Amino acid sequence: MKLSVTRHDLPTANPFSIARGTTTTAGIVTIELTHDGTTGIGGAGPSAYYGETVDSVVDVLADLRSAIHGWDDPHAGQHVARTLADEVSDAPATRAAVSTALADLAARDLGVPLYRQWGLDPDAAPRTSYTVGIAEPERMAENARQAVEEGFDILKVKAGTDDDRTRLRAVRDAVPDVTLRVDANCAWDADEAIEQTQWLADRGVEFLEQPVPADDIEALRRVHEDASLPICADESCVTAADVARVADACGVVTVKLMKCGGLWPAIEQIHAAHAHGLDVLLGCMLESNASIAPACHLAPLADYVDLDGALLLATDPYEGVAMPDGRLALSDVRAGTGVRPVRNG
Ligand SMILES: [Mg+2]
Repeated sequence: MKLSVTRHDLPTANPFSIARGTTTTAGIVTIELTHDGTTGIGGAGPSAYYGETVDSVVDVLADLRSAIHGWDDPHAGQHVARTLADEVSDAPATRAAVSTALADLAARDLGVPLYRQWGLDPDAAPRTSYTVGIAEPERMAENARQAVEEGFDILKVKAGTDDDRTRLRAVRDAVPDVTLRVDANCAWDADEAIEQTQWLADRGVEFLEQPVPADDIEALRRVHEDASLPICADESCVTAADVARVADACGVVTVKLMKCGGLWPAIEQIHAAHAHGLDVLLGCMLESNASIAPACHLAPLADYVDLDGALLLATDPYEGVAMPDGRLALSDVRAGTGVRPVRNG
């Protein structure tokens, strides 16, 4: 199997801010795996928070190159996932890049879309939310209004500033009729989070994601037990192995390919969450369609979807699954994950 690796610096459409900081350029790595004349495309959107960078992804791929060169079966996804988990366990975005490219290759080899290869129901995929990053209140209101004009009816609003209520009020006033979700990205302590939850519930917020620091499961549990809206664990629930630990401290867990290490580990985490009675939000980082499109094929297994990572970029060398009005158009995919280079892009 032939591997080719490309690094990209992709500017974001707007400066994208969360509680931890601001991104204006997303470092992305895309890969192509070619076998018997068929090419599968995948990608990594590495996150420094989880210990990866574009450089580390490229380095790990270089280490894997000779092993990948020896691979001869595009349908060995389970075996490859296990091998990568053993050999590069601390490089989840890198594993995700290989996993998504191999899945695209395997489904293209069969001439079917990935979701059909897995027997999943495209009509079961929830609509995606669109994320409104932290900015001045008027700017956030304007971004929300624009997203709703473009057809989105679910917004995820980032919080974790010195004045979240002014910002959230501005967004709510600008788009009174849409579903809002709020993500504090670890910014609050338990007392502040508990104080915020009733206020958020009163404004019809659907759920609150990661109110407290990732490692403080006791704080998460306190907020969950007190809150009148569902609490979602993202940074506190990285892989399937974390699900049991947070199972009585939240109602929803966020699954991302770039956290857990690819499609197989994501399926494992989704099933672990459901087995514990939790709902699943399928999310993403700032990513190219090269890795967003494969994630879309898991959406039928999720209860909520936030796969807008490529929509937040100003440019993307790849097209993926179309998202008219936030609906994942899986049925339009003819083969593989639907990723293809943008023509004349
Ligand atoms: Mg989150």
